[in-house]
Amino acid sequence: MYAEEVAEMAGRIRDEDIALVRERTSIAEVISDTVTLKSAGGGNLKGLCPFHDEKSPSFNVSPARNVWYCFGCGAGGDAIKFLMDAEHLSFVESVERLAARAGLQLRYVEDDRSAPRSRPQQGQRQRLVAAHAAAVEFYRAQLGTAGARPAREFLAQRGFDRAAAERYGCGFAPDAWDLLTKQLRQQGFTHDELVTAGLSRPSRSGTLIDRFRRRLLWPIRDLTGDVIGLGARKLFDDDDGPKYLNTPETPIYKKSHVLYGIDQAKREIAKQGKVVVVEGYTDVMACHLAGVTTAVATCGTAFGADHISVLRRVLFDSDERAGEIIFTFDGDAAGQKAALRAFEDDQRFVGRTFIAVSPDSMDPCELRLAKGDLAVRDLVARREPLVDFALRHVINRYDLDTVDGRVEAMRRSAPLVAKIKDREKRPEYVRKLAGDLGMEIEPVQRAVLAAASGPPAGGANAPARSGTAAPAADSPQSLVEREALKLALQEPVLAGPMFDAVEAGEYRHPVHVAVRAAIAEAGGVAAATGGAVWIEQVRDACDDLAGQALVGELAVEPLRIDGEPDPRYVSVTLAQLQWGSVTGRIRDLKSKIQRINPVSNKDEYFALFGELLSLEQHARALREQAAGGL
Ligand SMILES: [Zn+2]
Repeated sequence: MYAEEVAEMAGRIRDEDIALVRERTSIAEVISDTVTLKSAGGGNLKGLCPFHDEKSPSFNVSPARNVWYCFGCGAGGDAIKFLMDAEHLSFVESVERLAARAGLQLRYVEDDRSAPRSRPQQGQRQRLVAAHAAAVEFYRAQLGTAGARPAREFLAQRGFDRAAAERYGCGFAPDAWDLLTKQLRQQGFTHDELVTAGLSRPSRSGTLIDRFRRRLLWPIRDLTGDVIGLGARKLFDDDDGPKYLNTPETPIYKKSHVLYGIDQAKREIAKQGKVVVVEGYTDVMACHLAGVTTAVATCGTAFGADHISVLRRVLFDSDERAGEIIFTFDGDAAGQKAALRAFEDDQRFVGRTFIAVSPDSMDPCELRLAKGDLAVRDLVARREPLVDFALRHVINRYDLDTVDGRVEAMRRSAPLVAKIKDREKRPEYVRKLAGDLGMEIEPVQRAVLAAASGPPAGGANAPARSGTAAPAADSPQSLVEREALKLALQEPVLAGPMFDAVEAGEYRHPVHVAVRAAIAEAGGVAAATGGAVWIEQVRDACDDLAGQALVGELAVEPLRIDGEPDPRYVSVTLAQLQWGSVTGRIRDLKSKIQRINPVSNKDEYFALFGELLSLEQHARALREQAAGGL
C-alpha cells in the first residue's frame, strides 16, 4: 500500500521537498514522541515496539541511516513510514506533519492525474478544516445556553453526561439564521470558504445563512483527528427536515469514506485487530463508553468498499494478521439484508466478517441504557461468523420438515459454503450444514462441490522456488547471502554494479532470492542513491512478506567487518556467495553424472562432464577472489 500511495501522491508534494523533509527530520525525535528510546550501542537506539506487545525491546532505530526496524514483528521504515504506521496517516499526511514540525513550507505540483479526482488543494483543505474547528468551538459554547436545553436533555436521556458530550465535542446549532456565518466571517473566512465547507448556504434572498439550525451536532473527524464535517440530529417536532442531516459532499467530506469515531477508535482497532461497525453517533458513544473502544459508524450511507479501504489502513496493514470486522444489527430485516450483501461483496473480507445481532431489536445505545455496559460488551462478544449467519438466514426460509424444503434449502445454501475462501473450513461447514438440514453429509458435499466448480479455483501465489531445499538460516552460505544483501541496501554506491552482476539464481535461501529479486525490481543497486528511500523502494518491490520484513532487518544490521567496507570487501563477499552456489551446483552435477550410464548415454555424459569441468574452473577463480582479501 505504501508503494501505491507514494506513486499516487508523488505528483502532489514536490520530490525535493519530500527529500528535504526526510533530511531535516530527526527520526529519533519523531519516534521519541511515542516510544521511550535507550542507547543500543554503536549510535543506535532501542525501545519497546509500539506495533506489537513485548517485554524486552526489539524495536531499533538507526539515526545515522534514518531508519527504524523491529526484530520482533518485522515492521520498519523511515520517519514518514513511522507516522503512517503509528498514527495511521497517509503518506502525504505524514510528510505534511513532519514538514510542519521542521518548519518547512511544502510546495505542491499540479498533476494531471490528480485533477479529475478534485483533490482539494493544500491551502483549501487547511482553510476548510480551520473553518470547521472554529464552527465546532462556536457550537460547543452554544450547548451550554438556555436554548440548547432540548439538546442536553436528548443526550442525558440516552445516558450521556456532560463529560461524554465534551469528549465527543457535541454542540448545538441555535435557533438563528446566520449567527455562525457572521461569526466565521468576522474571523476572516470568506463567503466561498463557508459555502464550500458546507457550513453555510445562500438563502433564497441571496444572503449567506447557517446550514444547521436548532439541532444537536456531532463533529465528524477523519483519521488524523481533523474535523471535516458535522452530523445534526433533529430535536424539535416542528423541524420538518430529516431526522439526521449531515454535511453535504465537499472537497474534504466524502461520505463513502467517512467513519464516525475512527479518530478515537483507531489505536484500539489496530491493537485489538478488530473493528465494530454500528449505525449511529449515539451508538459509537455508547459503545466506547461501555468499553467497546473499537466502534465506528458510517454517516448517512451504507458500509461500502471505500470504508473497507479506510479501515485497511488501520486494520489490515499486514495480511498475516487477519483483522475482524464486526457488524452490529438490531435484528431487523434491513440489517439482515445488509449482512447478506456484505457476503456478496468482498470474498477476502468474508472470512473476517462477523455479525452481532442485539436482543430485542435494540441498538447499542438502547441496550446500554436498558441493560448496562456489560450487555453492550456481551453483544459484541457473542458475534457470529457472517457465514453462519447467512446460512441460518437462508435455511430459515424453508420448511425443513419436507423433503422438497430440505433439498431446496441445500441448493440455496451450498453456494455460500462454496464461496468460503478459506478452503480448509469448507468440510467443517459441509458437516454443519448437513446437520442443520438434517441430511446426510454426502449429498451436501456434492452440492457444495458442484457450486464450487463454477469459477476456477484460484491457485494464487505459488512459492517462489520449489525443489531444492533451502540452506539453514545460519549456514555459511546464508550468512554470506545476508552480507551481500546488507551491502546492497546499506552501501549501494559501493556495492553497485558488482552486486547487480551476481544474479538472483546464485542465492539459495528462498527469502534471499525474494529480496534479491526485489532489488532488481527496484531498478538495481547501481542506480540507487541510498538512504531510507532506497530501502523503501526495495521493500515495496518485494511481494514476499518475509522478504519485506528482512529488508528492514538487513537495513540496520551491522556489517560483519570492523571499520568501513571497501570495494574489496564487496568483491570478496560476492565471490564467497557465488562460490557457495557454484559448489552446490557442482555437487548436484556430480551426483547426476554418477547416475548416468556413460555407455548408453554417451552424449549426455560428456555434455555434463564438460559442464562440470567449466564449473570447477569457475569455482577455483571464485575461491581465489574470495580468499583475496582475507
Ligand atoms: Zn514490533
